[in-house]
Amino acid sequence: MDCYNTDVVICGGGISGLIMAKSLINLGLKVTCIEKNQLQNQKVKSNDLRSTALLHPAIDFFKEVGIWQNFENYAQPLNSLVICNLNQKSGEIDSNCEFLAEDLGIDTLGYNLPNKIIINELQKLMMATKNFLYLEGDYVEHIKPRSFDVVIKTNKKIQVTSKLIIAADGRYSNIREILKIKKIKYDYNQKALVFNIKHAYKHDSKSYEIYKSEGPCTLVPLKTKQLNGYFSSVVLMIDNNKNNDKIFVDKERLSEFITQRTGNILGDCTVQSEVSNFSIISQASLALSSERMILLAEAAHVLPPIGAQGLNTSIHDIKILYYLVEKRLKNNEEIGTFEFVKEYENLRKKQISSRMLSVHLLNKLSISKNQIVSDIRKFGLSFLSNNQISKKIAMKFGMFQ
Ligand SMILES: Cc1cc2nc3c(=O)[nH]c(=O)nc-3n(C[C@H](O)[C@H](O)[C@H](O)COP(=O)(O)OP(=O)(O)OC[C@H]3O[C@@H](n4cnc5c(N)ncnc54)[C@H](O)[C@@H]3O)c2cc1C
Repeated sequence: MDCYNTDVVICGGGISGLIMAKSLINLGLKVTCIEKNQLQNQKVKSNDLRSTALLHPAIDFFKEVGIWQNFENYAQPLNSLVICNLNQKSGEIDSNCEFLAEDLGIDTLGYNLPNKIIINELQKLMMATKNFLYLEGDYVEHIKPRSFDVVIKTNKKIQVTSKLIIAADGRYSNIREILKIKKIKYDYNQKALVFNIKHAYKHDSKSYEIYKSEGPCTLVPLKTKQLNGYFSSVVLMIDNNKNNDKIFVDKERLSEFITQRTGNILGDCTVQSEVSNFSIISQASLALSSERMILLAEAAHVLPPIGAQGLNTSIHDIKILYYLVEKRLKNNEEIGTFEFVKEYENLRKKQISSRMLSVHLLNKLSISKNQIVSDIRKFGLSFLSNNQISKKIAMKFGMFQ
């Protein structure tokens, strides 16, 4: 049996797991990451068509831990978010509210990056990083916490001893299952279709969230060489039972559909990629810690893709944990103790719950086909647009400030 000694074990080498690993290595720790997939397969999987709008606080953290320079050249600035309501009858946009970066005194709300680039760049960076051990194609089968450390055994019969285990193994977290931590899940009976489009009008670095019953349709600008200014990613939320509808399979029909669904806001749209789909759920782990173990990112919370809250909430988990470890190390204190994991849980639990509740309510509000709810959407947006104080409060919450 191969045996390793390390400071921290991270289960899951996705975006969150790798950013966590880099942050802890910066603090002088040795990190072992256990990833279920082989790197080769991950590259295939990283044909992930999604892009991630990373908000200002996440970018600041990327700069702090020295990973922003790896993404900068691919990043599309997002200068404003325009939330619109599409009139059910006329099919035209009947109200909107624009949230500008300058309203908060900042240059950009954030940047949009293709997931494929984020994961590929992180993998390249980590493979060249000292004190990082990557065990791929493997997963944890057994966890034994002891007084001063924790021992795990993997499917490939590898044993790793560490001070702390971090579960960043996604929504189906194996670590959460092994430790019998319960979760609550809400299924919206919704799918998000994800694809890229070119459009007739320039996006001017604006992102759009266009509401209509069945959920929002989001357009987020993407940086490209050939079509720069005229290329965006789309997240279109639809009812589950419409998933087999031919419109969503035929690119020409989908192009026409998306032009109408977006109220023609960027002119004629043409689909430029394959279409992938994701089930929309909210899911929360009932605990964020256990003996010498911490849960973060989608292992802890899954949110519907509204207002770019998912990964941005995960970056917040990572940041809080990073500062806690930094504080302990400065004071020559141990990490992974009962007090340590509880401090993380106490700092994150309320914040995660309030964010999940807000996104859940927003999604319920967006799904409703009820005319009264549609009117609430319309008048709510007009109210926000005309009320600077409320608008600023909403912006600050959305931006994790
Ligand atoms: C359509 C859509 C659009 C989105 N857009 C945005 C956005 O604009 N902004 C935003 O902030 N968020 C967005 N999100 C959310 C964001 O994509 C997710 O939060 C993020 O991808 C989750 O990353 P993660 O690292 O937590 O999980 P994953 O990406 O699921 O990574 C988990 C990793 O763990 C590995 N793994 C799984 N099981 C095991 C195991 N047993 N042992 C070891 N390894 C294991 C997996 O192979 C994977 O590599 C969006 C989500 C969707 C669905």
